[in-house]
Amino acid sequence: MRKSVVAIVGRPNVGKSTIFNRLVGERISIVEDIPGVTRDRIYAEAEWLNHTFSLIDTGGIEIGDEPLLVQMRQQAEIAIDEADVIIFLVNGREGITAADEEVAKLLYKSNKPIVLGVNKVDNPEMRDAIYEFYSLGFGEPYPISGAHGLGLGDLLDKVVSYFPEAADEDQDEDTIYFSVIGRPNVGKSSLVNAILNEERVIVSNIEGTTRDAIDSRFTKDGQDYVIIDTAGMRKRGKIYESVEKYSVLRALKAIERSDVVLVLLDAETGIREQDKKIAGYAHDAGRAIIIVVNKWDTVKATEKSMDEFEKQIRAHFQFLDYAPIVFLSAKTKKRLHTLLPVIRNASENHAKRIPTNVLNDVIMDALAMNPTPTYKGKRLKILYATQVSVKPPTFAVFVNDPELMHFSYQRFLENQIRNAFGFEGTPIKILTRKRQ
Ligand code: GDP
Ligand code: GDP
Repeated sequence: MRKSVVAIVGRPNVGKSTIFNRLVGERISIVEDIPGVTRDRIYAEAEWLNHTFSLIDTGGIEIGDEPLLVQMRQQAEIAIDEADVIIFLVNGREGITAADEEVAKLLYKSNKPIVLGVNKVDNPEMRDAIYEFYSLGFGEPYPISGAHGLGLGDLLDKVVSYFPEAADEDQDEDTIYFSVIGRPNVGKSSLVNAILNEERVIVSNIEGTTRDAIDSRFTKDGQDYVIIDTAGMRKRGKIYESVEKYSVLRALKAIERSDVVLVLLDAETGIREQDKKIAGYAHDAGRAIIIVVNKWDTVKATEKSMDEFEKQIRAHFQFLDYAPIVFLSAKTKKRLHTLLPVIRNASENHAKRIPTNVLNDVIMDALAMNPTPTYKGKRLKILYATQVSVKPPTFAVFVNDPELMHFSYQRFLENQIRNAFGFEGTPIKILTRKRQ
């Protein structure tokens, strides 16, 4: 189930972000109604033939004030660490430069498949420009034009030919996959280690296809879990590890494979803007979410302090009103035992199916309680609803005219569904459809 990851590397101005935008197209969703949450355009989903994959524009990962050459080197290292296939991009109009050779040197040492794209080959007459790039030693150079969208099909054919077979990782239905995300130093690796040690679980490490990813599988009370490695928890110390965009990237990769995401906050330092951003990614992805307040040992813990912190969280994370909050200390292990049951519950809700007749009873009761709105003399009519998918639970509501469904009424329906079926921990989606 794990999606393959493709990274674009190359020196500045060869056209990495142009190609990235081309390949990703319109697929980057603008976050709907969450103020302040904007997506860094360095990581997105792309599609070619029957393959959906994740694409990284390493050029978007700026590494502090490092000189250009150092930045390029680190971006290439990130690609080597994170990607299954690397697109090495060069500029057909300029030929091979010293900087290209520098990047090439690092890529030689990786065991990752590399596809060489020669960009800015905007017309067929320019195709001869590709020949000199054979000397880089990555096989056939693919002439492309990001600006005009030329040659990308052949390049992508080559890229997907390197993807592992589909049955790569058996993401089994009965196992709960979860990850811990949060800004640096909130205690992610401490929490993972605490869970794995304290729960007296039998842990087995699963070697991922990606070199650094080590997932841990364990069983507790008859339930199987897999913790997805996020911040390179076992293998740390790379210079770029603390770069914000890199940690976001790791979080996005982990979110993608998770059923449940723990958004870790630090009770000692309080809530920061970056926490909201990170939580926004998990929400957007439609994962079950639990807010975990770590370092609770540093707070003079009284009933009052917990209530107050909860109020702050609810005020800052309004879009996560469905997420339960767990207070604990990874260090002292205090309240750690409360976590797994909450994860299990959120995961069950995330995968819950409501039978159509039961759902419609609730919708009809809702209509009786709060009549549908009218707009320009026309009243919204709700005909019926049905659950169309899980993870997250998604409902289609069939109506006479979708334009008449206002946000507030949709919100009302969502609340009624939540009250009736208890979807704690999971977002739910409501799609308004015109009945044919
Ligand atoms: P990056 O620094 O590698 O991400 O490069 P950008 O995507 O920002 O592109 C650098 C410049 O090259 C921009 O001015 C682009 O418009 C231009 N560019 C990108 N792709 C092409 C192309 O296929 N043909 C031409 N002529 N220009 C391109
Ligand atoms: P990460 O960067 O999010 O993985 O954070 P770490 O797990 O490396 O923890 C960062 C720092 O916070 C380390 O010094 C930990 O010892 C400390 N820390 C982690 N959890 C707790 C906790 O529950 N209480 C206290 N007081 N310190 C903690």
